[in-house]
This record gives sequence, structure tokens and C-alpha cells, in this order.
Amino acid sequence: METVDVRAGGAAYPVHIEAGALDRVGGFLRDTLEGKRAAVVADARVAGLYGPRLRRSLREAGWTPAVWVDVPPGERSKSLARARSLYAAFAEAGVDRWTPVVILGGGVTGDLGAFAAATFLRGVPVVQVPTTVVAQVDSSVGGKTAVDFDGVKNLIGCFHQPALVVADPDLLSTLAPREYRAGLAEVVKIAITLRPELLERLEREVEAVLERDPGVLTAAVRACVEAKAEVVGRDERDRDVRAILNYGHTVGHALEGWHRGRMRHGEAVAIGMHAAAWIGERLGVTLPEVGRRQDGLLTRLGLKLRAPGTDNQGVSRNLKLDKKVRDRRIRFVLTLQIGGASVWPHVPGGLVRDAVLRVTR
Ligand code: NAD
Repeated sequence: METVDVRAGGAAYPVHIEAGALDRVGGFLRDTLEGKRAAVVADARVAGLYGPRLRRSLREAGWTPAVWVDVPPGERSKSLARARSLYAAFAEAGVDRWTPVVILGGGVTGDLGAFAAATFLRGVPVVQVPTTVVAQVDSSVGGKTAVDFDGVKNLIGCFHQPALVVADPDLLSTLAPREYRAGLAEVVKIAITLRPELLERLEREVEAVLERDPGVLTAAVRACVEAKAEVVGRDERDRDVRAILNYGHTVGHALEGWHRGRMRHGEAVAIGMHAAAWIGERLGVTLPEVGRRQDGLLTRLGLKLRAPGTDNQGVSRNLKLDKKVRDRRIRFVLTLQIGGASVWPHVPGGLVRDAVLRVTR
């Protein structure tokens, strides 16, 4: 078993990564927390696939679900209304400050369940059991919780680090192909910005990655979690270095916003990374190797670098609303060389418009 220890904002917790780890969640819980009752929040689709195994694992380790709430799949569940229904279920079941909330699902259920747990009784322990690529390599670690509000993503939320994360790469075998591929964009993002050796391995083993080989997936999840742990260990609250994790997200978010649900987050990030490398090269700060290797790998993984038919002006409007805009300047994360990213505060607006034009044609 691979274990990465995360330290962030005074909290410390293990991330266990192992094929088959789902059956050990109860045991890990017993080793980490005291108690016998847990609340479970699960993505309804994932509960149908893996709920019985989680339930058995908890029971065998002496834990009973005080309450089990299934959440409908999809971003629409990241709402205050859904959080309210979780509060009601927790209150009804007598969840107290020592009752962990075990979350089974992707980033949607993870963000929602952790937000509800962070705010219920001013914070109860969270155990993340991430089931998508995005959730295993990114969202389950680092303590960001959120719901969307008035059509704005992640507008309401807080930081609340989990007490334990259990990632089972075997669970990725049932993800829909499009969902799986889109998640790989986040893996490439970490490899390009922070982990040159992961990039080399992905390039060498593209076929195994596409076949969802548990060995290569375990190694990839581990490398990403280690990289993220280092970053959030230095900057839990997203004040400086954590911004590196936003590589590809500036143009990516603007595109995703314009496509409103028709484009997966990772698909938009792949295009955003292409735009960022192109901008960096034009500015003379990004080595040509970055774009060449990044774009080559994304393409081999089945991700697109452009979204023809997108209204470039709509995307540019969205860019102005980006939360990384400060004093009307767009702060871009640029990768200068493989494994070396940095926030670039002065990217000229004209160059950004050209990049948007390039990826929307
Ligand atoms: P998701 O949670 O919507 O899951 C995608 C789909 O896959 C859903 O339909 C779900 O039912 C299904 N699914 C999940 N696991 C499955 C499995 N093992 N087998 C079969 N189907 C499965 O999507 P996501 O990409 O995991 O998460 C996206 C969310 O994560 C966004 O809301 C984003 O804002 C958030 N996010 C948060 C952070 C953070 O740091 N907190 C980081 C990145 C993304």
C-alpha cells in the first residue's frame, strides 16, 4: 500500500492509495478515529456500484452508518439546498462532533459532503473515498469545500481538511470513457507543472494509462497526491504557490463557462493548458519543449487542444470575470520548463485574446 502523509494548516492526515482499498475503509477508519457511528454521503450512481462493499467494510470494522444519504450525480447537486438536506439528515441521525462523514464519490459529492461536514456543528471529521480521477488526484486532498450559488461555481465554501483519504484506483475501471479521459488532463497538469518523472512515465505508458492498468494508475495517483500535498503544505489557503494548480484553468474556466455543462472540466483544462503554453512561448518565457510534450501527450490520451465553434468573444468576456483577475490584469500560470511553473502577473490582454482566438477556431 502507498501512503502519503499530508500536513496543511495544522492538520495532518494519511492518504492511502491501493487497488482494493475500498474493502479496507472500515479498518483505516478504526485506525484513525475513535467511535462506532459514521454518516455516509454517497453519489447515488457510485452507491449502486460500490455501496454494498463500503457498508460491509464499515460493518466488519465495527462501524455502523448512523445515516446513509445518496446524492444525485451531477454538478447541480453542489447546492445550498442539497447541503440543507444533508444537515437535516445529520441532525435527525444525531451526528455529533466525533461522528465522521464518509464521502463516496467524485468531486461533486466530495465538495458538497465536505462543505456540509465542515459547517455542521462547526466542523465534523471528513473521510474522503474518491471515485473519479479528478477526485483521487486532486479534489479529495487539500481541504477545499464548496457549493455553487446563483450559477457561480464554488461561490460558497470553506477550508476543512479531511481526517483520512482512501483512494482505490480499481474504482476508476467503471468510469465512463469521457469522464476518465477528462480526468487525465488534471494528471497531465500536475506532471507538466510539478513532476517531470511522472510526465516521462505517462509518455512511456500511454497505452497502459488508457487501458486503466491498476499499477500505472496507482503510481500516477500517488505522484499527484504527493505533489499536491507539497503545495498545500506550503500554502493551504491559496495565497501564492497553490495557484500553480490553476495551470490551464484561466482559459479553461472561461471555455467551460461558455459551454455550460456540455464540456467536461478536464476537457476545458486541456485546451487551457495548450493556450497557456502558447502564450508562454510568445512571451519568450516558456521553453518550446513544454508545449510540444504537453500537447503531444494530451492528444495521445484523446484530449482535444481546441474547441472550434466556440464564441471567442463570449470566452473573453468570461475571462474578465476570472477570480485571478487583479487590477484588471489577468494573472496567468505559465510553465517555464517542465516541472517549473510560476504565476505571471503581466500577460498583455491582446496576447490572451489571440490565444482565445486560436483555441476557438
Ligand atoms: P463528478 O463528481 O460529477 O463525477 C462524474 C460522474 O462520474 C458522475 O456522473 C458520477 O456519478 C460518476 N462516477 C463517479 N465515480 C464513478 C465510478 N467509480 N464509476 C462510475 N461512475 C462514477 O465529477 P468530478 O470530475 O469527480 O468532480 C468535478 C467537481 O470537482 C467539480 O464540481 C469541481 O468544482 C470539483 N473540484 C474540486 C476540487 C477541490 O479542490 N475541492 C478540485 C477539482 C475539482
